[in-house]
Amino acid sequence: LLELVDVCKKFGDFEALTDINLAVRPGSVTCIVGPSGSGKSTMLRTINMLESINSGGIFFEGEMIGQQVHGNHRRPVSKYIARKQAVNFGMVFQNFNLFPNFTALENITLAPMTVRKKSKAEAVATGERVLHSVGLFEKKDHYPNELSGGQQQRVAIARALAMEPRLLLFDEPTSALDPELVGEVLAVMRDLAAQGSTMLIVTHEMKFAEDVADEVIMMDAGHIIERGRPRDLLHNPQTARAKKFFSSVS
Ligand code: ATP
Ligand code: MG
Repeated sequence: LLELVDVCKKFGDFEALTDINLAVRPGSVTCIVGPSGSGKSTMLRTINMLESINSGGIFFEGEMIGQQVHGNHRRPVSKYIARKQAVNFGMVFQNFNLFPNFTALENITLAPMTVRKKSKAEAVATGERVLHSVGLFEKKDHYPNELSGGQQQRVAIARALAMEPRLLLFDEPTSALDPELVGEVLAVMRDLAAQGSTMLIVTHEMKFAEDVADEVIMMDAGHIIERGRPRDLLHNPQTARAKKFFSSVS
């Protein structure tokens, strides 16, 4: 579904991503772990086309969506492809990013109506369905500040789902939550995995990664240090760097 080939990303002279190779199969769950500053968010942002790349390629269903350097010429992805592909991704952020002056349901129906050109009735029907699926139908007319952090994040997930994305990207979706609210968000994500959603998840929740991920990828300083099945990687890391990291987080 998604492939990254030798992706490099620089901010000035700083290499934030170096030779990143990644393949995401339809219906798979990939968890990305690693210390702060290792490039996890940057990787998601390049996939989501919020950042360009300096070399390599990013392909979605075989179509190049990442920017590539040919000699000294940067070849930007056409606006057409970018717009078409952006609809295929749903992104969930650490800080929910809900619109504060819209209700839960309005937050969810906005993009389907404006981007997908759905009718209001259609967007509301989908919105109510996805709110129900995250257990928040009865909160549909509440504003974000009337919801707990866990509820806000579940609305944010519902908002991503309403666009019917092919790939769901999560960037530390539970990091901003009080510990007692983490479980309800992970439960929604477990449901999505069980239903066959394709997900790429940056997380520090190792138990979740172990239970749900098909592959775990560990990053450090812009490199993929180690990757593998969660049980192998979490309990039997091969590199000294990964051993140190996993002993510090679990
Ligand atoms: P965290 O776990 O703290 O979220 P991360 O693994 O998501 O960390 P990134 O946010 O991807 O890390 O950042 C990787 C590196 O790139 C960091 O050193 C960061 O300072 C740098 N970086 C990120 N965005 C920019 C930017 N827009 N300009 C310059 N440097 C940046
Ligand atoms: Mg980050």
